[in-house]
Amino acid sequence: MKVVEILFYDSNRVKLVVEMLDPDCYSTEHAPHIPKLLFKLFPHLVRHRCENDNGYSFRRECQCTEIPHLFEHLIIELQGQALKTGTLKGETQWNWRVDPKGRFHVYVEYENEILVLGAIRVAEKIIRALDNRKLDGINVEDEVRQLGELAKLSERYKIPGSAVAEAQLNAGVV
Ligand SMILES: [Zn+2]
Repeated sequence: MKVVEILFYDSNRVKLVVEMLDPDCYSTEHAPHIPKLLFKLFPHLVRHRCENDNGYSFRRECQCTEIPHLFEHLIIELQGQALKTGTLKGETQWNWRVDPKGRFHVYVEYENEILVLGAIRVAEKIIRALDNRKLDGINVEDEVRQLGELAKLSERYKIPGSAVAEAQLNAGVV
């Protein structure tokens, strides 16, 4: 799984375009070890609310769901652990009549844009490590602590107004 595009939407939502390396292996049905290991590393995930067609709990849903859907929940979980955020929502969509098979659109809310970028990269690294069953390089405590530091640091450079508005302003000037 690879994040090929990151787009800042509105002032608190980011859109990710995600592609599976093998478009036929996009479900946890093909990789049951991924949710199994993920829930071990992040036990709090069982408490995530998840709206799905079957009305399943997130844990049950994870037995047969799209891997980018897991990725979406992990980005939210990492943000919540690093910084006490309010409730953040996410959504995973795809339409393979329009897009190539294996491409997903993942939407995630955020409060701190630097933190969400960090959380995206850490989540990507974790999903990949789980997929390869290589957990040696993953220390959740360290990752969360570093994301917390990143969030704190970014507060120091916060400009009034969102960065999105700022970028639009700059574009208008040029
Ligand atoms: Zn969900």
